[in-house]
Amino acid sequence: MEPVEESESYHRGLALRLEEMAPDDEFPTESSRAQREVEESLFAEDAVRDAAGLRHPPAIQKDRMRAYLRAAVNGKIEKYFVGLDSSQPWLCYWIIHALDLLSSSEEPVLDETTSQETVKFLKSCSNKSGGYGGGPGQVSHAATTFAAISALCVIGTDEALESIDRQSLYSFLIRMKQPDGSFSVTDDGETDIRGTYCALTAASHTNMLTPEITRGCKDFISSLQSFDGGIGGEPGNESHGGYTYCGVASLCILCDSNLDEMGKIIDLESLKQWASMRQMAFEGGFQGRTNKLVDSCYSFWVGALFAMLRWQPGEPSLMDPSRLNRYLVNYCQGARGGMRDKPGVRPDYYHTCYALSGLSIAQQAMCEEGEDVPSDLRLKLIDPVYNLHTRRRERVYRYFHGRPFLPE
Ligand SMILES: [Zn+2]
Repeated sequence: MEPVEESESYHRGLALRLEEMAPDDEFPTESSRAQREVEESLFAEDAVRDAAGLRHPPAIQKDRMRAYLRAAVNGKIEKYFVGLDSSQPWLCYWIIHALDLLSSSEEPVLDETTSQETVKFLKSCSNKSGGYGGGPGQVSHAATTFAAISALCVIGTDEALESIDRQSLYSFLIRMKQPDGSFSVTDDGETDIRGTYCALTAASHTNMLTPEITRGCKDFISSLQSFDGGIGGEPGNESHGGYTYCGVASLCILCDSNLDEMGKIIDLESLKQWASMRQMAFEGGFQGRTNKLVDSCYSFWVGALFAMLRWQPGEPSLMDPSRLNRYLVNYCQGARGGMRDKPGVRPDYYHTCYALSGLSIAQQAMCEEGEDVPSDLRLKLIDPVYNLHTRRRERVYRYFHGRPFLPE
């Protein structure tokens, strides 16, 4: 490696970066101090790299990422994940979807035995009254139902897709349906846009988007847009990246991604403005809410909005994909694999899944804007509405659309 030259342009670049730091109004608060700490942690990462004489920007370490995820598939999940006992289908989805993004072939992500065992395990999380719980014997929840079905879609075998009991899934979804058009997440549970997105995704994958399922959904989503253009979880709530994703992706399902139709339900221009303001000037990654810190998972939750709201392929994006790419690759890779929220915290499977999904979106936008992304560094293309590799979604669509559904 050649040492970094401390040229004029290097110093100009550094001065520019200092200007991008959040302005100091000499009235420090807890959040302004936290913001400054994050910015300094990025400077510290750069300094370590400069001291090591690394001249070239880092690249995504695919092998290291794969090793981290493969260890989890082989049962080596770190102890602190015990807190995710009620999120076991989520762990399956995060891990195998991330592996899928990293793979350079269209071959199945899991070997035959692991695939069969995973299908069997996910089946054991399902309930006779419909839907999937967070583990065997746990009550069904819209979010774990989404996760289990998404994991089965990544596996993609006939056995995986056949294992979904559509009649009981349909009765679970109808049981969650609320008079205002939304869905609750579980029996007597809370009602917010997550429930609606998870229910619509499950129904869309399995070809069960009946009028009973879609009734009132558009009105509910329209009631969630805040004065600043973003979407909150419930009417009157603060705009939030995750909920905005759920709202827009739900509209894509309901309107078949027709932006003219979607624009009659929510104000897309103010939503895009709100979303573009979530990209941090200094860090390049996204925050989830105004005045919050950067976090790599919003690379997907907010980054996917730009992929869903493009009028046509190739249209310039309102986000800066190169800066998003730089944040993820320079600052979010764990030394032993996995992706982290930000420097100073350890990697986990959730952030690995969503940071890599966001990286796939950033790479796609960079390529469309004429930037060169070497093919060996590219991740697979995703369908932003479902967060699945486009080929997996196509396969699921073909499988279920050949099997019309009639509720009993
Ligand atoms: Zn996060």
